[in-house]
Amino acid sequence: MSVEDVKKEIRELSDLLTLYQHAYYVENAPKVSDLEYDRLYDKLVKLEHEYPQYRFPESPSSRVGSDLNSDFPEVEHTIPVLSLDKAYSSDDVLDWMERTARKSNRDLTFVVEEKIDGASIVLYYEKGLLVRGVTRGNGTVGNDITPNIRTIRSVPLKLSEPIDIAVRGEIFLPLESFEKINTEMDVPYANPRNLAAGTLRRQKSSEAAQVPLDIFVYEGFLAEHVGDHIEILQYLTRLGFKVSSRIGVFSSRNNQEKNRNLPALWTRGVFEDLESYIKRAVESRKQLPYEIDGLVLKVNELDVREALGYTGHHPRWAIAYKFVSPKGETVIKAIDVQVGRTGRVTPVARVDAVRIGGSTISNVTLHNQDYIDMLELGIGDTVSVSRRGDVIPAVEEVLEKNDRGNPVWKMPLICPSCGTPLVRIGSHHFCRNPKCPAQIKGRLYHFVGRDQMDIENFGPETVDFLLDNGFIRDIPDLYSFNYDNLKDFPGFGEKKIELMKKGIEKSKKMPFSRVLPSLGIPEVGKKAASLLINAGFRDIDTLLAAADRGNSEVLTEVKGIGEKTAEIIIREFSNPAFRSMIAALKEKGLSFSEAEDTAADKYPQTFSGQVWCVTGSFKNFKPRSLAADEIEKRGGRTVSAVTGKTTHLLAGSGGGSKLSKAASLAIPVVSEEVFIKMLRNREGDSNGN
Ligand code: NAD
Repeated sequence: MSVEDVKKEIRELSDLLTLYQHAYYVENAPKVSDLEYDRLYDKLVKLEHEYPQYRFPESPSSRVGSDLNSDFPEVEHTIPVLSLDKAYSSDDVLDWMERTARKSNRDLTFVVEEKIDGASIVLYYEKGLLVRGVTRGNGTVGNDITPNIRTIRSVPLKLSEPIDIAVRGEIFLPLESFEKINTEMDVPYANPRNLAAGTLRRQKSSEAAQVPLDIFVYEGFLAEHVGDHIEILQYLTRLGFKVSSRIGVFSSRNNQEKNRNLPALWTRGVFEDLESYIKRAVESRKQLPYEIDGLVLKVNELDVREALGYTGHHPRWAIAYKFVSPKGETVIKAIDVQVGRTGRVTPVARVDAVRIGGSTISNVTLHNQDYIDMLELGIGDTVSVSRRGDVIPAVEEVLEKNDRGNPVWKMPLICPSCGTPLVRIGSHHFCRNPKCPAQIKGRLYHFVGRDQMDIENFGPETVDFLLDNGFIRDIPDLYSFNYDNLKDFPGFGEKKIELMKKGIEKSKKMPFSRVLPSLGIPEVGKKAASLLINAGFRDIDTLLAAADRGNSEVLTEVKGIGEKTAEIIIREFSNPAFRSMIAALKEKGLSFSEAEDTAADKYPQTFSGQVWCVTGSFKNFKPRSLAADEIEKRGGRTVSAVTGKTTHLLAGSGGGSKLSKAASLAIPVVSEEVFIKMLRNREGDSNGN
């Protein structure tokens, strides 16, 4: 390459990366995949390293990609808030450690932390009180998003000591919550990181409060010198912060540090152990309840950190070991569009089956038209597919364009199910016809589903059969058609028909708190339904009356119900087709009111402060989420995994690994029988029986 070519390439890469940074950080609409961005970034860094004389002062490699947004006030950081240097192999990490130790001429200790895949935040405390929560911004100035930060339960508002401190952390959304919330969203997010970052940028903190964000903190900056990084992490825990316990500390064999007392759950090792530690971390990430995209290795000694200092982009005393997602190569055979119960249309690529990271992939979601445009994807293209976070398959980039002349794929103009013209809202396309067969099918699947009305013997195949053969046209027909007419069809024996009838009858006894989220109103899942009911919207008529007034304020007054949800409720309840469905279901005997005395706030809050995990199957709680409902009604919290914070494990039959985890943490295990006694006794106590 001639000198002129090098100069030109550096200029082009710098301009392109600056453009991509703006799209990613400010517009929240990436123009290329992370993989492609990282490839171009690494190419630029390599060229700049070889030809430092051609590096531009404003190069994207010399500063942090800015996420500043004009919707929030800007404040100056009092500490350096930078990104991280990156490595992609354990060899590169070990090289970096050796170089760093050589430079500082010391026998160093390295702390290894998880690289949480969320949104970066700096929390400022004065005299022990939270005064500001600020985004990373451009590293010097960030956006003040304090009201939204205050809604996060695990961010302490008051510390155990009245000190001044700045703390860096990562706000994230646990995977389970992401999956739950995302399925109820009008416009779902591609991953938990984007949903967490989007939530932090909500204008109304009541809306941010609806998303159960969480935090891990990983750096503390105090005016006075406090020992080293290990001591700071322990001090942060004592102050009331949430620090991950998945931390490793590695020193050389001769280093006396290796004898130091560390928290029980941390891992200690010598440098020779590091490679296997990294390997284990990569393998175990699939079991984590949150996403990580790598590990961060940090020098423990603060004076060495000070001497090493910072570039404009990252500290020289830390490096991120970024996980590389398993990838495969395949060809796009077709792109189908799926219409969901809310009418949202999702393009899905059918690809030649390819094995990636241990499983065979033949379908990959393409999210929306913007995503397809970003990839410039057409049918017949050869693509690279990765399993992000080792789980969700994603098309990363086009490796080779098809030779059939197929252009970039475009969303059809009409709904593939009912032929209604599609409407674009934001990045997504929607079919707005409530009678669309695909939407009806989606609504039926949702209605009979385990977490909603839980009608047994109504799996997707049965629902498809009933629809395709004209037995039903929508949800209310489940309660009126003559089941005995089914007996002429194969697969519908007397026994099955009896069970179906029984399931339908049983569903009429489901409380309003179950019926409401089963109706499939976007954003109104179990949680929003119980917030509304507990706030006094105890029957459907009260909700309909609120919708008739068209005033969202009566709904947003309910803690946890934001503007967006309120608007959707008003929109849906004002829809005549939806209202007539409610009227029909009411007539069939479904429960559309929650009696005062069974309302949640009338229950003795005897499980308040307790954290329960429910496992196995139960005789009296089918589905088992009904047992969780009982706990929550009495003020307890339910979680999906047994951790150090769990106070009880409710175990039905076949509890599995959670039982051994509870035993190892000495958490009491409660049987179904004892649980029922606890419910009865406690009610008895408060009722004076
Ligand atoms: P990064 O997110 O890869 O790493 C730095 C961040 O890690 C820190 O700011 C911090 O918030 C976080 N972190 C999590 N756990 C940590 C811990 N224990 N200790 C210290 N820090 C921790 O870097 P970045 O500069 O924020 O973003 C760059 C990445 O963003 C790129 O590699 C790329 O994947 C993506 N990106 C993509 C595009 C695109 O167009 N697709 C554009 C820009 C950036």
